[in-house]
Amino acid sequence: MFTNRFYSPFLLLGLSSICTSVFAEQAHQHEFIQHEAHVHGLVTFNIVQDGNELLVEINSPGNDVLGFEHQPKSDEDQKRYQQVTHLLKQPESILHLPENAQCKAEYVSVKDNIAQTKEAHHDHDHDHDHDHDHDHDHDHDHDHDHDHQHGTFTLEYHFQCNNIQQLSSISTQWFTQFPSTQTIDINLLTDANQQHIELKNPSNTIQW
Ligand SMILES: [Zn+2]
Repeated sequence: MFTNRFYSPFLLLGLSSICTSVFAEQAHQHEFIQHEAHVHGLVTFNIVQDGNELLVEINSPGNDVLGFEHQPKSDEDQKRYQQVTHLLKQPESILHLPENAQCKAEYVSVKDNIAQTKEAHHDHDHDHDHDHDHDHDHDHDHDHDHDHQHGTFTLEYHFQCNNIQQLSSISTQWFTQFPSTQTIDINLLTDANQQHIELKNPSNTIQW
């Protein structure tokens, strides 16, 4: 019924009612202006079921999936970036939905701001160093990563399920694919349920 274009903001509005910070973070990412205040090792899944549709939105520090957050420059970095992007574009390599729910991925989006972090942040950091050399609190806020920059991946997987009543769990291969992630923070919103679930490595089942 909804096209993807209309569907996504519609769901995000629903999500914002349970987690306004997620919504605010989203807005930041889309501007590509400043560092993500993300924590390495912590990934967020926002899972929304509405009618026959299931949306899984994943926010991950670049460091968790790539091992770095700078713009890929060396051949090795480039190769890793290509591999990871390719992997993330295949929902079945990240999520396993129960067969009997008969879900089919109908939309996949993989975005990151890795490529955009370089120049702007270099200037930004330089200004900070110059103005606030002595200010340790300030440095701490901005520089908890050695690279002085953060890059985040934002993934969206939309599924259409013919038998969504059978969907009450999802298993994820995230910890197998990306072992440096320690925790997945899950915000779950279904027709019947609204909850926060924390998955610790190596647990892999989200159940409601
Ligand atoms: Zn980071």
